[in-house]
Amino acid sequence: MSSAESSSTRALLPTSIVGSLPKPSWLAQPETLWSPWKLQGDELVEGKQDALRIAVHEQTSRGIDIISDGEQTRQHFVTTFIEHLSGVDFEQRETVRIRDRYDASVPTVVGAVTRERPVFVDDAKFLRAATDRPIKWALPGPMTMVDTLYDAHYKSREKLAWEFATILNQEARELEAAGVDVIQFDEPAFNVFFDEVKDWGVAALERAVEGLSAETVVHICYGYGIKANNDWKTTLGSQWRQYEDSFPLLQRSSIDTISLESHHSHVPMELIELLRGKNVMLGAIDVANEEVESPDEVAATLRKALEFVDADKLIASTNCGMAPFRRDLALAKLRALSAGASILRDELSLAKSKVS
Ligand SMILES: [Zn+2]
Repeated sequence: MSSAESSSTRALLPTSIVGSLPKPSWLAQPETLWSPWKLQGDELVEGKQDALRIAVHEQTSRGIDIISDGEQTRQHFVTTFIEHLSGVDFEQRETVRIRDRYDASVPTVVGAVTRERPVFVDDAKFLRAATDRPIKWALPGPMTMVDTLYDAHYKSREKLAWEFATILNQEARELEAAGVDVIQFDEPAFNVFFDEVKDWGVAALERAVEGLSAETVVHICYGYGIKANNDWKTTLGSQWRQYEDSFPLLQRSSIDTISLESHHSHVPMELIELLRGKNVMLGAIDVANEEVESPDEVAATLRKALEFVDADKLIASTNCGMAPFRRDLALAKLRALSAGASILRDELSLAKSKVS
């Protein structure tokens, strides 16, 4: 499916989650972000595949149209990818400030970074075989990767990002060949480092998608509902206008779809006008709040967005990942998402039938 075809041939208002779903308790500690695996070796491989099957089933049975792995195959959305690369020493750790927000002990880039073998391609093949629906696979974006490491080799965030973009492009091409329809890059760093986004961030992202015919997505958010993120959000004022910097650049870029936060966040809806012409994957489900949205609330968020995005370019989604939730809660939110999109889909087809 080429990106040109994808918006015309897919159903109106498709639903898709941004990223993670809770993992089963036999695979990793529930309600914990980045929780270590409980299994090892062959048991871990099998356990991840079982979890992936469950994630597919849970999405399908709750009406999600574009299926992802729910991050059942990774511990962390950035470091699990980096663990598979050479040039990064996970024993040699330094404390750095992540996204200008919280300190973390991170691995060190000690030499040239290279991908010696595919990282997620086997997992993606497994997902491909598990469903007939379109599938989406998420990779970290180059800038967010750079921001999650200490660099003792390149000593330049831009150079390192460029190397990562080349590696991501290799991986993305193989994911596409494995049958992945939509490839998403998670770039929360685009909401923080505005000068770098302009100077090299978008260019590095475009390098990562070079030559792909799969639909490409960039996901930019305000993060999981963890304390460091919630504290940061209280400093952002009544209107969150961070997207104002990146959206005009992305509107002119080769990226097909922009994934953003909306429901319960203080992002003014009219900012998505800056993306006119692009597909918009709109967060209509809050991932920082345990209250389950009603279908009407979801529909209201999507309806409001239609003032600024064409209906055939709107994708209904979550604000970010749902890993920290209880499973029943995440599943209820999946159901609300698809029920809300369905309300609006009915409204749109009714309006269309009245016109014709
Ligand atoms: Zn996110």
